[in-house]
Amino acid sequence: MSTEATYEDLLDAFGRSGCAICRLATRRADRFLASYIYEHVNDVDLRSQIRSSRGFCEPHGEQFLEKLDALAVAITYRDIINSLVVELDASPHERGSSGAFSRLIANPWRRLRARLAGVRGREVLAVSARCPVCVAESAAGERAMDVLAQQIKDERLSRTLAEGDPLCLTHTQGALRRSGRMPALISRQHQGWSELRDRLLEFIRKSDHNHRWEDLTDAERAAIVTSVRTVTGTRVRPADDASAETRKLRRGGTNARRAP
Ligand SMILES: [Zn+2]
Ligand SMILES: [Zn+2]
Repeated sequence: MSTEATYEDLLDAFGRSGCAICRLATRRADRFLASYIYEHVNDVDLRSQIRSSRGFCEPHGEQFLEKLDALAVAITYRDIINSLVVELDASPHERGSSGAFSRLIANPWRRLRARLAGVRGREVLAVSARCPVCVAESAAGERAMDVLAQQIKDERLSRTLAEGDPLCLTHTQGALRRSGRMPALISRQHQGWSELRDRLLEFIRKSDHNHRWEDLTDAERAAIVTSVRTVTGTRVRPADDASAETRKLRRGGTNARRAP
């Protein structure tokens, strides 16, 4: 399930809106989820990894749901929730009205199961791995920043960096950590953030009742959302980044020949 962004992808992303690295990272995350749904739901190793991470993190759990494949969700989360129930059964914690710890002491079979499940001595219901989509997304972002740093002296990259949206804060830091010699990037960031700051100032000025008759420009309106995203970055693939992968709304949400 590996599809790394190339230098050409990076050049293309710098020519589009928003943080170029977020765009490539979220594209990777989206493809990871699509590939999991369509090809890897029955992949034993990946399912084991997903069991360890207790499924996906909140944003990627939402994106998994948005893929509208109910059977893939059912297969994946039946497995996860089943393992939670089994671990609860084996845990020494209290369940129901009777004292479970004393029940554990009194019940050798339960005590044996707890020992076999390795529950004693470690956190009950522990999450022992990162969300695999986060792992893929973050690796793609790191890789894209490596390519940026390696190619920073390339003429085509310099031309592309001369104009366009700034990177988000996290990816700016990541790029600058790789190389202290990125004048074209610094200049792009400076210009992008300065313009954004000035648009916010105009937004504030025009919000004053003395200037309410002055219309806001599209850029000033957009600055409200962009200002937050340029600091936080984004975990959602941009709408204009949709590829040929079309979402299929399945009646009942099924893929053929899948075993739970
Ligand atoms: Zn970013
Ligand atoms: Zn995640």
